[in-house]
Amino acid sequence: ESALYVVATPIGNLQDMSQRAVEVLKNAEVIAAEDTRHSARLMAHFNINTRLISVHDHNERQRIDSILDLLRAGNSVALISDAGTPLISDPGFVVVRAVREAGFKVVPVPGCAAFVAALSAAGLPSDRFAFEGFPPAKRNARQQYYQEQSSESRTLIFYESPHRVLESLKDMSDAMGADRQVVVARELTKTFETIHSAPLAELIDWMAADHNQQKGEFVLLVHGKPKPEAGVVDNNVEHVLDVLLAELP
Ligand code: SAM
Repeated sequence: ESALYVVATPIGNLQDMSQRAVEVLKNAEVIAAEDTRHSARLMAHFNINTRLISVHDHNERQRIDSILDLLRAGNSVALISDAGTPLISDPGFVVVRAVREAGFKVVPVPGCAAFVAALSAAGLPSDRFAFEGFPPAKRNARQQYYQEQSSESRTLIFYESPHRVLESLKDMSDAMGADRQVVVARELTKTFETIHSAPLAELIDWMAADHNQQKGEFVLLVHGKPKPEAGVVDNNVEHVLDVLLAELP
């Protein structure tokens, strides 16, 4: 039966590639990859000779027709991105939706996702969390965005580029307070893997003092804002109650 396989690939360490991922990529008729040159290296490492076609943010819609044609002809197609799980801050959503709408099977082949790896080692509450992808790149938008996130009680998880990570932490500190606990997870599964936890003020000083800590790939994890304890009523609620009680006969 033909299907679209959504295949996770490593986020650094090639040993994180699953055996099933290798098998599925070998057996597919075509691999739709975000960047065919980038993926060619992965293919070479695992001796995968399947034909690669490119599917990135700018041609995703046009590619749907060729992928649907392949599926109609009884072929299986695999979808990969440059690293980790496709669709997670990566292209693929438009293709997956179209393939499902056309009535074909979509089969996940799970594996790495940087935010899951980061959360699993950060030591922050992991029962409830919000994965937010990349914050806005522009300063003003980012400041407002962090402001909006500042009262979130779940653990917040962001991806951030090395060019912006320090500025981004400063904006976060302005919006959420210098004592908010944050974990920086850098270069996961790679040689310079670093997972560092501190209140924002300390974290910013630590990163600013060492340029090497600003290099590579980053996941930022933010402790949620503690919910007011049960029984503690905030002033505003008390005020509203006073007003309402005064109206009672
Ligand atoms: N699809 C990927 C996934 O499943 O995590 C994410 C792709 S997104 C375009 C790339 C971003 O993911 C990087 O900028 C970084 O924030 C994060 N990332 C990817 N690999 C990472 C790693 N080894 N260590 C830390 N963060 C990583």
